[in-house]
Amino acid sequence: MRKIAAIALIFALLKPGTRLAAQEAAMTGYSPRASQIEREWETKMRAIPDPAILRETMRRLSARPHHVGSAYDKENAGWILARFQEWGWDAHIERFDVLFPTPKTRLLEMLAPVKFTAKLEEPALAVDPTTNQKSEQLPTYNAYSIDGDVTGPLVFVNYGLPEDYEKLERLGVSVKGAIVIAKYYHSWRGIKPKVAAEHGAIGCLIYSEPKDDGYTRDEVFPQGPMRNPDGVQRGSAMDFPSSWPGDPLTPNVGATPEAKRLALEDAPSITKIPVQPISYGDAQPLLAALKGPMAPDAWRGTLPIPYHVGPGPAKVHLKLEFNWDIKPVYDVIAKLPGALAPDEWIIRGNHHDGWVNGAEDPVSGQAALLEEARALGELRKQGWSPRRTILYTAWDGEEPMLLGSTEWAEQHAEELQKHAVAYINSDTNDRGLLNMGGSHTLEEFMNGVAGDIEDPETKMSVWRRMRLSRIAEARNAEERQELRRRADLRLEALGSGTDFTAFLDHLGIASLNLGYGGEDEQGIYHSIYDDFYWYTHFSDRDFVYGRAMAQTGGTAVMRLADADLLPFEFRDFADTMRKYTSELEKLLADQQAVIRERNEELEEGVFQATLDPRRPTVAPSKEAVPPHLNFAPLENAVDALTRSAEHYRRAVLRALPALGGGDHAAVLEAINHQLIDSERRLTDPDGLPRRPWYKHLIYAPGVYTGYDVKTMPGIREGIEQKRYAEAEQEIARVARALEAEAALIENAAGELEQIGK
Ligand SMILES: [Zn+2]
Repeated sequence: MRKIAAIALIFALLKPGTRLAAQEAAMTGYSPRASQIEREWETKMRAIPDPAILRETMRRLSARPHHVGSAYDKENAGWILARFQEWGWDAHIERFDVLFPTPKTRLLEMLAPVKFTAKLEEPALAVDPTTNQKSEQLPTYNAYSIDGDVTGPLVFVNYGLPEDYEKLERLGVSVKGAIVIAKYYHSWRGIKPKVAAEHGAIGCLIYSEPKDDGYTRDEVFPQGPMRNPDGVQRGSAMDFPSSWPGDPLTPNVGATPEAKRLALEDAPSITKIPVQPISYGDAQPLLAALKGPMAPDAWRGTLPIPYHVGPGPAKVHLKLEFNWDIKPVYDVIAKLPGALAPDEWIIRGNHHDGWVNGAEDPVSGQAALLEEARALGELRKQGWSPRRTILYTAWDGEEPMLLGSTEWAEQHAEELQKHAVAYINSDTNDRGLLNMGGSHTLEEFMNGVAGDIEDPETKMSVWRRMRLSRIAEARNAEERQELRRRADLRLEALGSGTDFTAFLDHLGIASLNLGYGGEDEQGIYHSIYDDFYWYTHFSDRDFVYGRAMAQTGGTAVMRLADADLLPFEFRDFADTMRKYTSELEKLLADQQAVIRERNEELEEGVFQATLDPRRPTVAPSKEAVPPHLNFAPLENAVDALTRSAEHYRRAVLRALPALGGGDHAAVLEAINHQLIDSERRLTDPDGLPRRPWYKHLIYAPGVYTGYDVKTMPGIREGIEQKRYAEAEQEIARVARALEAEAALIENAAGELEQIGK
């Protein structure tokens, strides 16, 4: 151990960008002595997670369908509760009552030019024992689709994104009064019916294209991991990015029995038109019956048909009716009380509900979380006691749209805003690299954690493997240079699609989202084939990445829970804000250039010259060139942030040796409270334009992307959606938040200097 560490240290001196080996460096927030003690406990913790137990937990939790409202969902919650209690945690179940529609009628038929009725059914497979649990499986559907009975011509709209409709306009194709068929992926699925409705469509089908997760990529299930012709991706279609996630009827408050509820027809997150997911088996006859212009090259999939756009002659009838029931969700909440700072909370979560058996999504992540909880319980018996309070949570109702986590966060908003230091989320876990996203004030911290986890396949640290693979995948020399020079790997900014959303976006709690994956192809997402058989044949078969995930989550939790000084760090954050600022300046400049060029081409007659009379297209119209915006307030704020971040760093380095002696407890407590507050400073109680539930000014899911983040969303979406005056107001608002953040950091640095004296 010691020898390896010494070699690694020399290596670190030789090669910039290589992290110091664990044993050599004091950790941020710890004195050298405290660092050593912490490392000993962490090492003990990482030895505990056991692949055999992970496997057995997955088998148990995925044995039957366990969606919201099902018998096995409730049973699983009880089983998870009993485990926490067995391991010495103070645990309970918290219940909320939420709107959760299930299908009553699902009919999709083609009336012309040929008759065809879609199967809308995933068959059981003899080789896979849980696929025949038909009476407990939810049918294939999109939750929060509105009821509807519509008939119209079919139009193929690629992924159904705003730019796809621009392309359709150029092709002279309208979707008014039509039913659109879109491919899955490249956006939150709820964006597809939303954009379709905005363009006048009356119904929406979403299919799984074999080019994206079917036979084009590998053998289909059960011979291989990919989607077979009948496989369907269920999923929520809630328009949460424009309104809020969680229960559609109880925004801002927990869905308790006494909560005031909106009437169903007033709930803005229900889709405007009916939407139904289908397999490529069901999609192929529909697509094959389309005529009209050929779809642009990039739109075409790999079904053995010519991909036309329509409209028609395929004429389609879609009829959907749902039971609009209120169903219980069961969140399991478990606590280890903090010994010295019980009012500072580290929260860790992963959901437990699935769409069907959900072995990969979510049990792979839930099993790892439970191994962490078992390990922490074990350490406690051996004498470890965390400085801060640790909360482990198993959320219900994530799949319909973050129901359990959002309702809990809303219900406990006040105490969370006061006490929550950070929220660490995971969801699915597979084989491969560590994916790490989160608040950039935790970037340095998370890099440190990743440096201490061993990759099961290469035996190098997961940090080093991640860095080298990012170098391999870098798009240009500049990116490679940064990867080699920069001390920390960048955290991805968080969009949405899993349970961190309410913590980060609504409450302004610094958050992380972690999980391994990327080495295996998969096409079972949200189908009955995401089960124990699939996972143990085609993903992390020996559960070593489940163990790595438990080691990663457990280490992150312990290190946050035990630090004398919370390991928030602001240089990476300031650097990231600088990066976003220049991205936005470039976004505006590019948009100006594109419109200027197009206007010029229109004047030159480029569109008339290139018109093919047999395949006519429609020229775009001329457009005003976007105005210049004043980015100066933002640039000044980023400068102030950079100065205070540097000041804070110097103060930390001077104070570290004196930490933990107990002499500075009061000062440290005051500083820690400021650090807890640092993410809240990035929020505004008024929220983002037209979506006040979203309070964070730096991170939000995009209104037209859903999963994908928009950083500095008010500014970015203002420019993208051509609301330039609003973008300029948002520049000023983000600048004010960053100035306030800089002032907080400056203040914390000043107080820290008292310790370093
Ligand atoms: Zn999930």
